Amino acid sequence: MNIHNLQQQFYQKLSAANDTKTLEELRNEYLGRKRGVLTALLKELSSVAPEERKNAGRQINELKQLVETELERKTELLSHAVPPEVVDWSLPGAETKLGGIHPITLVRQKIENIFRSMGYAIEEGPEIETDFYNFTALNFPPDHPARDTQDTLFVNRQDDSGKNLLLRTHTSPVQIRTMLKYPPPVRVLCPGRVYRKDEIDATHSPIFHQVEALVVDENITFADLKGTLLYFLQELFSAEVQLSFRPTFFPFTEPSADVSVSCVFCKSKGCSVCKYSGWIEILGSGMVHPNVLENVGYDSEKYTGFAFGLGLDRIAILMYGIPDIRLFFQNDIRFLSQFRIVMP
Ligand SMILES: [Zn+2]
Repeated sequence: MNIHNLQQQFYQKLSAANDTKTLEELRNEYLGRKRGVLTALLKELSSVAPEERKNAGRQINELKQLVETELERKTELLSHAVPPEVVDWSLPGAETKLGGIHPITLVRQKIENIFRSMGYAIEEGPEIETDFYNFTALNFPPDHPARDTQDTLFVNRQDDSGKNLLLRTHTSPVQIRTMLKYPPPVRVLCPGRVYRKDEIDATHSPIFHQVEALVVDENITFADLKGTLLYFLQELFSAEVQLSFRPTFFPFTEPSADVSVSCVFCKSKGCSVCKYSGWIEILGSGMVHPNVLENVGYDSEKYTGFAFGLGLDRIAILMYGIPDIRLFFQNDIRFLSQFRIVMP
């Protein structure tokens, strides 16, 4: 019998031994002074050739050590074993508490599903960004106020160009990363957490959530943007809606438009949600600025695109009538347990 087989055999017997009596028998079988297998092997050492004796002795002693340790360990283990429980089947069952999905996640999943059904890919990116992805590639001029420490949270570390890293102020850098990664056509949705230097109150938080969409292809026009937004918002609110576009300015789109949706809560008759205007401001949008396309190496003569972005927190606030943005971040179970529903 070689030592290795002996060891294997021991482990098999050890794992089968589930009471102290069997363990004691096992101890006798291997270490017993009279009939122990290992004791016998040690006694036989004198008959082994002198050149092999040292090695054989070492192996037997190692196994002996191991058997002792393992037996002790198992004895210790069994001494803590819980006695078999007597089950009273007539007792009432323990209540299992169901978790819920965070309202921001609910809204995010709903929006992702709408865009997946239109063939969009979902892309995510890092929350710590460089100036290039967050500003420069998006056509922000060097002196743009968003680059100021008043608005942006910077990280005390520099990128390769010596500029401070920052917490992304929007999910737009994911658009840049996507376009640098893939050639056109691109249809992508970029959801994620963003950061701005804001005082915390009922409607402001330095952390919030955005989702942006980007489409770049040949012959993409403002009509594609309008059609996509109408479909998206009708699906989101499960209602017929009208859209209102107002010209605005963003560095990364031209032309740019703020979009309002007709109030789905009062059917535009006027309510506290729409502040009695019949309209709810909901997102920013526009045609991708040619500079942005050129910055990622796309031919701006051949390709055009649209992009839009909206705040997930704001949508969740609207859809669920949540009075305070801080509720999203407080993990108060009384608040969260109200969302133990599955959205259609
Ligand atoms: Zn209203």
